[in-house]
Amino acid sequence: MIRSTFHNHTTFCDGKSSAEEMVQAALAAGCPSLGFSGHSYTWFDESYCMSKAGTDAYRAETARLKAAYAERIRILCGVEQDYWSDAPTDGYDFVIGSVHYVRKNGHYLPVDSSKDTLLQGVNAQYGGDILAFCEDYYRQIANVQNKTGCTFVGHFDLVTKFNEDSALFDQDDPRYRAAALAAVDTLCEQGAVFELNTGAMAKGYRTAPYPARFLLERIRDHGGKVLLNADCHDAEKLLFGLDQTEQLALDLCITIIREI
Ligand SMILES: [Zn+2]
Ligand SMILES: [Zn+2]
Repeated sequence: MIRSTFHNHTTFCDGKSSAEEMVQAALAAGCPSLGFSGHSYTWFDESYCMSKAGTDAYRAETARLKAAYAERIRILCGVEQDYWSDAPTDGYDFVIGSVHYVRKNGHYLPVDSSKDTLLQGVNAQYGGDILAFCEDYYRQIANVQNKTGCTFVGHFDLVTKFNEDSALFDQDDPRYRAAALAAVDTLCEQGAVFELNTGAMAKGYRTAPYPARFLLERIRDHGGKVLLNADCHDAEKLLFGLDQTEQLALDLCITIIREI
């Protein structure tokens, strides 16, 4: 179906497509709105985020596209603000609050860069106790709205990116569930909006969107809201998996937000 999308990366950070290529893809798909969400600058890891100078260029190019295509599509300049980023969020049209690192003993342990990197961090700082790592992740994300002032929460259970078929840990473990559900409860009390994110499906890591079904049910039970996004890094996959994901949300009777 025709829809808007707000979690989109370009060559200003770790995306494959230029901002203008993304606009063209959104026009072809008939999107009413297209939001860009470059990764905020993180001083401790410059491998995937926008550089400081690149952030200025990103804002300028988004402003140019916004004006150039104003008659045809609504373009928003957003940012995917990492929990540990100290880059300012002023002046953006929206903010996605995301946790890409768990900080432990002064180290920033990547959650989603690769399975090996994740396990190295867990082994070095948690003695291999990946559930303790998950518990710290959820303590952080429970605070993401406070810390980033986000418009919506990005990929809530990102710690499961490499855990298809419970390859790394048991997602039914009571410790895991308690930590994740406590974070849902805290964020729902604050009125947070969660995204239903198909990014890891587009990249072939997962067969289901973030968050997992039991978390969506909890969000639903709180009367919470979701927003559908493909966390797109490639214009050819702008709306990847969103139709089937929308069906999941409809089946669960969760309120869907379509514009921000
Ligand atoms: Zn992210
Ligand atoms: Zn993203």
